[in-house]
Amino acid sequence: MSEARHDWAKEEILEIYNKPLMELLYDAATIHRKNHDPNVVQVSTLLSIKTGGCPEDCGYCPQAARYHTDIVGNDLMTVSQVKAQALRAKASGSSRVCMGAAWRNVKDGPEFDEVLEMVRTINKLDMEVCCTLGMLTENQAKRLAEAGLYAYNHNLDTSEDYYKDIISTRAFEDRLETIDNVRKSNVTVCSGGIIGMGEKLEDRAGMLVALASLNPQPESVPINALVAVEGTPMEDIEPIPIWDMIRMVATTRIVMPETQVRLSAGRTEMSREGQAMCFFAGANSIFAGDKLLTTPNPDVNQDMEMFKLLGLNPQKAFTKISQPKTVEASDSQYKGLNEKPKWSRPGHSIERNEQAKKKAKLTD
Ligand code: SF4
Repeated sequence: MSEARHDWAKEEILEIYNKPLMELLYDAATIHRKNHDPNVVQVSTLLSIKTGGCPEDCGYCPQAARYHTDIVGNDLMTVSQVKAQALRAKASGSSRVCMGAAWRNVKDGPEFDEVLEMVRTINKLDMEVCCTLGMLTENQAKRLAEAGLYAYNHNLDTSEDYYKDIISTRAFEDRLETIDNVRKSNVTVCSGGIIGMGEKLEDRAGMLVALASLNPQPESVPINALVAVEGTPMEDIEPIPIWDMIRMVATTRIVMPETQVRLSAGRTEMSREGQAMCFFAGANSIFAGDKLLTTPNPDVNQDMEMFKLLGLNPQKAFTKISQPKTVEASDSQYKGLNEKPKWSRPGHSIERNEQAKKKAKLTD
């Protein structure tokens, strides 16, 4: 195993990112093989349990209520709907279900109680359960842990410097605080970001500095390529070249040797050859299913064909960390505290998508 370093400098990471490609790939693949089985890839299914209507203004996100996209919003799914989807995901080879809700932060109350029940239900199916529900207090993290949550996803998205150009309704420190709250429970951390949002290479390196300096480093780091959705402020941004994705995956692998590097949004734009290079460079997880919350994703059968072609095997659930125990609601030692944490609102305003707004009004 390689020793994880927490003191990376941005310049060092940039030097790695910009290495001649063959050298970068060789270095990343060498570290990957020391720390992981190179023929095993973890498969997660992402499920949007509450879609759209989000009060936040993340510039890339079609679920933000203020943008005019074609997303059809949905209230919180029921526990039985979630169970049915989880069983389908398990049958198609997923070892993890990641439930996403378009919330700014978790609020104690009946909806959160439902989510806790969903966590219990999926953990009892012997699948890893992950949630991405927005900002979270320590008490809420502990309640999720007690229900049997395996991982909590909370992406840093980009560097601290570029963050305010992407999101103005919360600050970078809020993200770090939620990750810190998750770390106070025994739930693992999944945190990564998106490339191709108009950031500089320094921002990509800056994001990796922030992630690598977390101690412990996140158990899982998703690397997304922006999927530019019509109606969002980023609708006109061109997709990034595959080489950027390969370099980013390889650099992440070198900087965080033990983490599970996740190929996330943007895979529909990638050829199999491109994805194979990402796996060689150290990616060892994908999201499966035809949708990633709201954006398209390759069909699960195509993914399984690709696995066969490349000789890859899906990772079994609880290979890295043992299955958490589920405590029933009636035996819980925690209750909702109805806290009102002071998450910040920095006030900088992201350019609204005026063009899309006008178009939406015309078609109303
Ligand atoms: S990324 Fe999450 S927090 Fe941001 S607008 Fe979309 S759903 Fe809301």
